[in-house]
Amino acid sequence: MRAGYRRWAAVVVGLVTATACSTGTASTSAPSPTTSPAATSAEPAAPRVNPATVHADELGAVPVLMYHQLLAKPTGVYDQTPAQFRAELELLYRSGYRTVTAADLVAGRVDVPAGRSPMVLTFDDSTVSQYGERPDGTVDPATAVGILLAVAKAHGEDHPVASFYVNARPFAGKAAYLAKLTALGMEIGEHTATHANLRQLDDAGVQRELVQGLAVITGADAGAPVTTMALPFGAHPHNARLAHTGSWQGRRYDFQGVLLVGSNPAKSPYNKGFDPLAVPRIRSGMRTGDQAFTSTYWLPKLLKNRFVSDGDPAVISFPKAEAGKLGPRFGGQARPY
Ligand SMILES: [Zn+2]
Repeated sequence: MRAGYRRWAAVVVGLVTATACSTGTASTSAPSPTTSPAATSAEPAAPRVNPATVHADELGAVPVLMYHQLLAKPTGVYDQTPAQFRAELELLYRSGYRTVTAADLVAGRVDVPAGRSPMVLTFDDSTVSQYGERPDGTVDPATAVGILLAVAKAHGEDHPVASFYVNARPFAGKAAYLAKLTALGMEIGEHTATHANLRQLDDAGVQRELVQGLAVITGADAGAPVTTMALPFGAHPHNARLAHTGSWQGRRYDFQGVLLVGSNPAKSPYNKGFDPLAVPRIRSGMRTGDQAFTSTYWLPKLLKNRFVSDGDPAVISFPKAEAGKLGPRFGGQARPY
């Protein structure tokens, strides 16, 4: 147990050190490996850190955290108090995590600074505790988005992102909030029109739910394509393909990512085992009970094999010993060390 805590502390200290190194001027940063594609092009190479100095491992695991409501008095295992949410975010940021959206993860766009690790924050069911505004139109600091903005800023991330899986009448009927969230860089994803259990519907019913849910988002003019969905209750339809591709009354949907409920970290999108149509999520929460599903259980374990960025989204750095995990289509971007 003590060894585990020491390792945790060592990693956090290492991250701080690595960041201090990587924020130096270009002339003092570590030399780029000569195998870098950019080094041979006519363009001047961007300043880069040596992946070994930050222990980059871009084939490591990524926590995708699942949040629901923030309530002063939680009513179920999926709820958190605002204080619990803030504490969990603080822990994640202190541990070196920075945000990407589920759409980014699925598309393989993992752009976090060198030495940092990506995390995906997901919020289901579009409830009022997730996003709200003060009378002057600014973000209510008591909502999940308000807390996220404050914690992220305190840790140097000025534009944190998250993914919101919404139903019809999002945020108690304030569909205009969808465009506000998109303007903040947040992702809006599909969670069916009525929060239906897709397992209990026939093929037509599944496709109706997804087309009608998508229409709520596109109708709100959120301004960004909808590329991922989260399965209500984690329940797949009998025809699993209909979770991501289908049509109803001439209107189509075609999602690139499908998010599950529970329970383990996701693989790197560059890992050959990554399945964008079955992305697992870890339950948020510091509570006792159901430990194996929660961040309390997974975050310490992740220190051994998490995704650590080299700071350059165009190349995929990892220790040579990990090479067997690389997805074949990413061979051209690989930078083993
Ligand atoms: Zn839900």
